Amino acid sequence: MTKPLVAGNWKMHGNTEQASSLASQLAANWNDLQAVEMVVFPPFVHLSTVKEVLANSAVALGAQNISQHEGGAYTGEISGAMLVEQGCQYVLVGHSERRELFGESNVTVAEKFKAAQKVGLVPILCVGESLQERRQGQTLAVVSSQISAVIDCVGLRNVSRAVIAYEPVWAIGTGEVASPQQAQQVHSAIRTQLGNIGADTRLLYGGSVKSSSAVELFAQPDINGGLVGGASLEAHEFLNIVKLAE
Ligand code: PEP
Repeated sequence: MTKPLVAGNWKMHGNTEQASSLASQLAANWNDLQAVEMVVFPPFVHLSTVKEVLANSAVALGAQNISQHEGGAYTGEISGAMLVEQGCQYVLVGHSERRELFGESNVTVAEKFKAAQKVGLVPILCVGESLQERRQGQTLAVVSSQISAVIDCVGLRNVSRAVIAYEPVWAIGTGEVASPQQAQQVHSAIRTQLGNIGADTRLLYGGSVKSSSAVELFAQPDINGGLVGGASLEAHEFLNIVKLAE
C-alpha cells in the first residue's frame, strides 16, 4: 500500500534559529511507526542545521530547487550531489513560483527532474494550472502536458517512481483551496496518464492546505498526501495536517 507523504515547503522564510526550532518540534513529535512520511524543505542555507536537528528522527529532508547541471561555472546554483551531501532525500522541481517568477520551462523542469534522479534524490514534480487556464477549461490539458514533458525526457517508469504534486496556481498562498472534487478530478486524470505503472505513485495536493481543509482532501481516493507551504511554518498546525493523512 502507498504510504502517504506530507511535505512542508518553508520557501524563503525564517532564520537559522527558527529553522532549528521548527525542525526540533517536528522531530520530537514524529516517529518511524507513524503511517505517514513527513519531509521538510528548508531554504538551502538552513539545510545543514536542519540536517543535524533531524538526525535519527523520522522526518526526511528535502531541497526547494536543484540545478540541472552536475557542476561547473554556474554561479549561484546548487547541484544534486551537493544536496545529497547535505542529507537531502527529496527535491522540489517545477514549483509554480520557479516556473512563473524564474522562468523555468517544462524542458528545464524535466532536466532538473532527471538530474535529481541521477543522484538518487526523489523529485516531487509540481504541476498545476493558472486561474485563467482553469476558466478556459484547460486544466487537464495543462497538467497533462507538464507531466508529458518529463515523461518525454526520462520515461514513464522514472516518472512513476517519483512523487507528483498537483498545485493549482490560483490556490498557492492565496487562502483559496481547490474543492476535494476539483482536486480529485485532476488527481484521477494524472493517475490515468501514468497507467498501471503509476498505480502506487504518490500524488500530493498542494494549495493553501490547512488542518481544516485537509480531512476531506486526504479522503479522496487518488490523493496520497499534501504539499504544504504557509501552514508548514507552524509546528502544531503542520503536525495536525500530517496526522490527518494517516
Ligand atoms: C506551496 O508552496 O507549494 C504551497 C502549496 O503553499 P501554500 O500552502 O502556502 O499555498
